[in-house]
Amino acid sequence: MNNNEILIVGATPTGLSLALALHHHGVNCRIIDGNSGPANTSKAIFVNARTLEVCDAMGFVEPMVALGQQIKEIKLYSEDKLLNHADFSGIESKFNFLLTLPQAQIEQLLLDQLHQKNIVVEWNTSVQSIQDVEDKVNLVCTQQGKSQQITAKWVVGCDGYNSQVRDLSQFEYQCYSLPQKFVVADVEIEGNINKNEISVAFSSKGVLLFAPLKKLFRVFIEVSNDGHFCNVDQLTISDLNCIIQERFKSGLNIVAINWQSSFKLHECLADKFKKGRIFLAGDAAHSHSPGDGQGLNTGIQDAWGLSWMLAHVVKNQANKELLDLYNSERRGIANNILKRSGGLNKIASTNNKFLQLLRNFGVGGILNIEIVRNKIANSVAQTDICYMNSSLLNSNQVLYQNKNRHPENKNGWLLLSKDIITESDLPKFVTIEQNSINWSDQALCLIRPDGYIAMYADSLFEVTSFFLENQIHG
Ligand SMILES: Cc1cc2nc3c(=O)[nH]c(=O)nc-3n(C[C@H](O)[C@H](O)[C@H](O)COP(=O)(O)OP(=O)(O)OC[C@H]3O[C@@H](n4cnc5c(N)ncnc54)[C@H](O)[C@@H]3O)c2cc1C
Repeated sequence: MNNNEILIVGATPTGLSLALALHHHGVNCRIIDGNSGPANTSKAIFVNARTLEVCDAMGFVEPMVALGQQIKEIKLYSEDKLLNHADFSGIESKFNFLLTLPQAQIEQLLLDQLHQKNIVVEWNTSVQSIQDVEDKVNLVCTQQGKSQQITAKWVVGCDGYNSQVRDLSQFEYQCYSLPQKFVVADVEIEGNINKNEISVAFSSKGVLLFAPLKKLFRVFIEVSNDGHFCNVDQLTISDLNCIIQERFKSGLNIVAINWQSSFKLHECLADKFKKGRIFLAGDAAHSHSPGDGQGLNTGIQDAWGLSWMLAHVVKNQANKELLDLYNSERRGIANNILKRSGGLNKIASTNNKFLQLLRNFGVGGILNIEIVRNKIANSVAQTDICYMNSSLLNSNQVLYQNKNRHPENKNGWLLLSKDIITESDLPKFVTIEQNSINWSDQALCLIRPDGYIAMYADSLFEVTSFFLENQIHG
C-alpha cells in the first residue's frame, strides 16, 4: 500500500473514517491534524442507521452499538400535552433505531481501528498553503512549529467548518443563517423519563428536545424567543429546571451539567466538492445545524462514498474521471439533506402563533399515516439515498420495491443473479452471488463497492458494457 498518494487533512469523524475506509479498500494514506490530539467534547450524538451500516461494513459496529444508547421512538408534545409519537421500526435496515453516542467516543473508536492497522495520525500539523499543480498537490504545513513541505497526488479537506483546504483552494462556501439560538447541554436528570425515546416539546417560548445518552441526557433548548434567556450562552442548573417546568413538565429535576455550549441555526454548502486533485468532505463541504443530527453522519458517508472511487484510481483500476462522480453524487445528497432539515427547523422553531397552531395540529395528524411516518424515519436515517440514476450510468434505471442498496456487500463489485450463471465472460473482479435476487423483474443486479445498486440488467453483456463504458477494470 502506497502511503504518500493521498493526504487527509483533519482527524475527526470524516477524516478518520476516510482513512479507515481507504484501508478497507486496500489503500493507505497520510492523515494530519492541527490539534495536539483528539478532542474530548461531546458535540454530535445522533448516529443514524446508514452510518451504522457503513461502520458495520468497516468492521466496528459492535463496539459502537455496545457503547451507545438505542432510541426506538420519538414523542412530540405541546408543552406537557402529548401530540403524537412515532417509532423507528419502519427504518429499512437491520439497525432500525437511532443510536446516541458522543462524538469523542466515536472518534476514539475510529482511532483504535486505525491504530490496529498501524495508521497513525500526525497531530500538531496544520496546512498553511496549498497548490494544485498538474499531476500533484504541493502543501506547506507547520509540523510541531516547523515548516514542512508535503506532496500528495490527492488531498481531501476534512478540516471542518473553517476549512483552510477549502479557503486556500478558493472553493466558495455559501452560508445561510437563521436567527434562532439554542443552548445544548449534557445533563444528569432525576425523574420519570424514558431512556429509549426522544422527547420534543413545542411551546411559544421555543422548542425543547431531550435525548437519552447511555448515562446522561442531551438537552437542546431554543432560547432566542425566551425573554429571560435570549442573550445567554450558558445556563445554570436552576435556569434549566425553570425552563423545563415552564415549557415541558414538572417532575424532572436536573442535578448536574456535564458539558454545555450554544449555537445558531445555519446551513452551508460548498459550490463544488472536488476541484482538480482536491476534495472536500464533511463539514468542510457542508455544515448543518447541530440539532439536525446530520453533520457527522453525512461526513462519514462522504468518506465511504469517496473511498472506493479514490482506491480504484490509486490502484489503476479506473480512470481519474471516476472521481468526478463524488462531486455530483455527494453534493447532491448534501444539498437535499440541507433543504429538508432547513424546512424542519423552520417548522419546529417558528414563533408565528398561527404557524405554531398549524404545526401542532399537523404533527398530531400526519404522523398517524404510516407511509408518511416511515418516509420521515428513513429520510432521517439516510436509508433512502439512491445513486441508481447518477452519472455513472447513462440510462434511467427502475427502482424496484424501493430497494436502493445491498448493505451486505462490504467490498468490491458484486453481481446478484436470479439464475445460475454459467457464462464466465464477466470481469474477474466481479463476485457473483447466484439465486440471490427475487425482488425485481430483471435477472441481474450489480452492486457497487459502497453497497449501493449500480444497475439492473437482463444480460451479462449489459454488465460488461457498463464496466467498459465507465472504464472500470479492477
Ligand atoms: C453541539 C453540537 C451537536 C451536534 N450534534 C450532531 C449530531 O447529533 N449528529 C451529527 O451527525 N452531527 C452533529 N453535529 C455536527 C458534527 O459535530 C459535525 O458535523 C462534525 O464534527 C464534522 O466532522 P468533520 O470531521 O467533518 O470536521 P470537524 O469535526 O469540524 O473537525 C475538523 C478537524 O480539522 C482540523 N483542522 C482544521 N484546520 C486544519 C488545518 N489547516 N490543518 C490541519 N488540520 C486542520 C481541526 O483541528 C479538526 O480536528 C453537532 C455539532 C455540534 C457543535
